[in-house]
Amino acid sequence: MSVKADYASWWDLAACQRVDPELFFPVSQVGPAQLQEARAKSVCARCTVQMQCLEYAMATHQLHGVWGGLGENERRRLRAVHTAERDLVQQ
Ligand code: SF4
Repeated sequence: MSVKADYASWWDLAACQRVDPELFFPVSQVGPAQLQEARAKSVCARCTVQMQCLEYAMATHQLHGVWGGLGENERRRLRAVHTAERDLVQQ
């Protein structure tokens, strides 16, 4: 089953379902938004489906917000590493 199709199997277990969704979408990466992102990541840290969430976010190219314990810039860097590794393998 694909990561996308498997979404329903873990979403019900998401720790963020009991938190204001706005917490996971800071409006910027600086100032008070950094504290907001840290608070969102603390929810992710105790979420039992963190890995599934991160896999989903990467597979569906989620650009905004905190997913799987990673912020936007962290997921962007992770995507760059994956792309570089894939390119190395294909050479
Ligand atoms: S890892 Fe974070 S964003 Fe993902 S489902 Fe869990 S609490 Fe929500």
